[in-house]
Amino acid sequence: MRIDLHTHSTASDGTQSPTELVEEAKASGLGMVALTDHDTTSGWEEAVAAAVRTGIRLVRGIEISCSRNHRSIHLLGYLPNPDDPRLVVELARSRDSRVTRMDRMIERMAADGIPVSVQEVRAQLAPGATLGRPHLADALVAKGIVADRDEAFRDLLHDGSRYYVGHYAPDPVTAIGIVRAAGGVPVLAHPFAMRMASVSDELVEELAAAGLAGLEAHHRDHEPADVERAVRLAQRHDLVVTGSSDYHGAGKLNRLGEHTTQPRQWSRIVEQSSGVKVVQP
Ligand code: AMP
Ligand code: FE
Ligand code: FE
Ligand code: ZN
Repeated sequence: MRIDLHTHSTASDGTQSPTELVEEAKASGLGMVALTDHDTTSGWEEAVAAAVRTGIRLVRGIEISCSRNHRSIHLLGYLPNPDDPRLVVELARSRDSRVTRMDRMIERMAADGIPVSVQEVRAQLAPGATLGRPHLADALVAKGIVADRDEAFRDLLHDGSRYYVGHYAPDPVTAIGIVRAAGGVPVLAHPFAMRMASVSDELVEELAAAGLAGLEAHHRDHEPADVERAVRLAQRHDLVVTGSSDYHGAGKLNRLGEHTTQPRQWSRIVEQSSGVKVVQP
């Protein structure tokens, strides 16, 4: 069975609805797919209905934006109870902060003669979805200011840009504790991607001690040396090794199932979970 444990829908910055995503996962021959939208579980309900209808195993997950020393770290959480009060509060705090952060990015761009309005960005967002830079990119594309999301990030929206503003994000140790307390299983997403340069061997050790369950080793943003490093650290700290596409529909080059997770590794994750169950067709 082919298993892809990291995808995004229009509930965050993917371009396909949860239904379209699940249908494409089935059509592409995956036996199991995880929906892991940024800082929200709002796509779950629709994805569950689609999974039952199309006949594919669905893992309900999230990707929590975390921060340490002003550097961004992404934590995947598999099968947490979505009604856990601390999880609900933490995700809402992040999403709220993303709204004011977007206002400030728009102000900075306006001051520099790049006219884009809050309404134009909002028009790119599905109801209840997590607002992010990709939606600002989409608004810039719609206005003909850039050709695509890639150009928007390269020229205007990257982390080092003068228009970049951060948002509230928990420390990864806090987020690991919250995911575990909600019965979920925390896995560090693409730890050695260039933009995640903050993740040192020491931080992996610290997070493992705090309850981290796994490392996403096989990922488009990892060079072969990064994959080796992740596998080596996973062995050292007895962590699960995953591989995933981080699919965003048309929003990124990543294709569904381009990296997958071994069923044996998935078993190690699911046996640690107690929040919600895998949706079986
Ligand atoms: P934010 O969470 O609002 O700071 O935005 C970060 C998101 O932007 C990440 O989830 C990525 O999926 C997305 N992203 C980063 N670089 C690019 C890119 N070059 N093209 C499309 N999406 C990107
Ligand atoms: Fe994303
Ligand atoms: Fe990520
Ligand atoms: Zn992702």
